[in-house]
Amino acid sequence: MILLAAPVGLLGLVLGSFLNVVVWRVPRGESVVHPPSACPRCGHAVRARDNVPVLSWLLLRARCRDCGEPISARYPAVEAVTAVAFVEVLVWQGFGWSLPAFWYLAAVSVALALIDLDVRRLPDAIVLPSYPVALALLALACWGPGSDAGGEVFLRAVLGGLAVGGAYLVIFLVYPAGMGLGDVKLAGVLGLYLGWIGWSAVLVGWFAGFLLGGLFAVVLLARRRAGRKSAIPFGPFLIAGAWVGLVAGPAVGQWYLGLLGL
Ligand SMILES: [Zn+2]
Repeated sequence: MILLAAPVGLLGLVLGSFLNVVVWRVPRGESVVHPPSACPRCGHAVRARDNVPVLSWLLLRARCRDCGEPISARYPAVEAVTAVAFVEVLVWQGFGWSLPAFWYLAAVSVALALIDLDVRRLPDAIVLPSYPVALALLALACWGPGSDAGGEVFLRAVLGGLAVGGAYLVIFLVYPAGMGLGDVKLAGVLGLYLGWIGWSAVLVGWFAGFLLGGLFAVVLLARRRAGRKSAIPFGPFLIAGAWVGLVAGPAVGQWYLGLLGL
């Protein structure tokens, strides 16, 4: 596992670098592969040696090599966070067929949380393809050679997606000002993963997202930072809540059943 952590961390760094491109370009409707990255001020293409995750930012002292334009610390931060998340997923899931599915979710989580914070939107261009991708990767996690999950677990994932997506759709229909339709579509994707882990994860993930988002909204309203109609990005809370459910859901479920004496 320790031997694997280094290459997995490197994979996370490289993917984090790509996510920076995704976060900038997807909301603007631009291609994520073409043209190559360039300085937004002087337009010089970023040289390969200046495109090494984290390291280049440090060596360039956070400035464009050509015009000296400051480069935000967010870029290396996103790369580092993605690398840590990839290693955490490896430690959590262990080496097996569920890794691609949860690495994909980690990458999508980072990208969507940042885009929602930036532009208050969860682009369909990322959320909608995540349904077939997540289903395919979770199928691999169920039926990959030697995995002990199977059809029952896959069915639970599908039902989890329907349950969580459906629950948020009801909330959206009852109180449309609270969140956007993008949140509902994302909730369905998160529900697939929560369902794959188990029903306690579904419940904890759904509730935690709602609680975190709701608490934040109450705090903002109390401090009068948000008007009634001011858009509070709900996506980051939905995502954070889902990860709480994924990681802590089974333990919380056990604990609760223990309280009931079951
Ligand atoms: Zn420049």
